[in-house]
Amino acid sequence: MKKTFLTLSLVACAAAAFAQNKYPGTPPEVSPMPMKPEMTEIWNPEVATVTPGKTPADAPSDAIVLFDGKNLDQWVSAKKPGGPAPWKIVNNDHMEVVPGSGDIKTVMKFGDCQLHIEFSAPDVVESAGQGRGNSGVFFQDRYELQILDSYQNRTYRNGQAASIYKDHAPLVNAMKGPLEWNTYDVIYTAPRFKANGLIDSPARITVLHNGVLVQNNTTINGLTLYIGLHHYPDAHGDDVIHLQDHGNKTQFRNIWLRKL
Ligand code: MG
Repeated sequence: MKKTFLTLSLVACAAAAFAQNKYPGTPPEVSPMPMKPEMTEIWNPEVATVTPGKTPADAPSDAIVLFDGKNLDQWVSAKKPGGPAPWKIVNNDHMEVVPGSGDIKTVMKFGDCQLHIEFSAPDVVESAGQGRGNSGVFFQDRYELQILDSYQNRTYRNGQAASIYKDHAPLVNAMKGPLEWNTYDVIYTAPRFKANGLIDSPARITVLHNGVLVQNNTTINGLTLYIGLHHYPDAHGDDVIHLQDHGNKTQFRNIWLRKL
C-alpha cells in the first residue's frame, strides 16, 4: 500500500511538471533566466551581396555568362578535342545545332550550380517523338536533363522535355509551342563519392520549366544511358556541361550559371 502511494505521488509530480511546460512536446526550459531576442541572432559573417538581373531571366552579378548570343568562346567541340564549337550563331542572338557536327561542351568545369538556359524547338517542325527537337543538357558530362519539342508530341514519359532522361519524368508538361522560347532554371547538386570510389550521395536536381516546377529535388540515379539501368560507374569531380547534337536544329540563347 505504501509502495503504491509512493508510485502515485511520483506520477502526480511528473504530470504536474509536464503541465507546467507551456509547449507540450518541447523540451522544458533549462535556464532559470528567460531568453532574449538577440540570443538567437547571427550577425557574422555578413551575407554576400549579389545584384540581381533586370528580370529573373537576366544574369545576376556573380554569374558566369556561358552564352550571350555573341560568340561561342565558352564552348568547344566534344567531337574534336580542342576544336571550336561547331554550332551556328544566328543574328547575334542565339545559337543553333548544326546536325552531325557533334555535341558542344563548356571550357570550364562545374559541380554544384544554378543554371539558366533558354531553348527553342527548330524553326520547322519535323518528325515526331524523340526525333522532334531533341537535344539535352548534360551536367558533369554525364546526367541529361532532356530537351525535346514536347508540345503535343507524345513519347515515353521519362524521355520527354524536362525529364531526367530515362530516369524521372517531369511532374508536368510545361512546354511552349515550337516557335516560342522555353526556359529551364536548374539547381543542381553534384554526387558525392566515398574514398573507395563508391557513391556516397547521388546527384540531385530541381528544375523550373517556364517557371513551373517540374523536378523537385529529384534524385538522379546515375549515368544517363540509352540502354541499361542507371548507376554510378565512376567517381568524379567537377566536369563540363555539354549540350547534345541529336540531329535536330534546336536553338539556344541566354545561358548563365552560378557556382554554388
Ligand atoms: Mg536528348
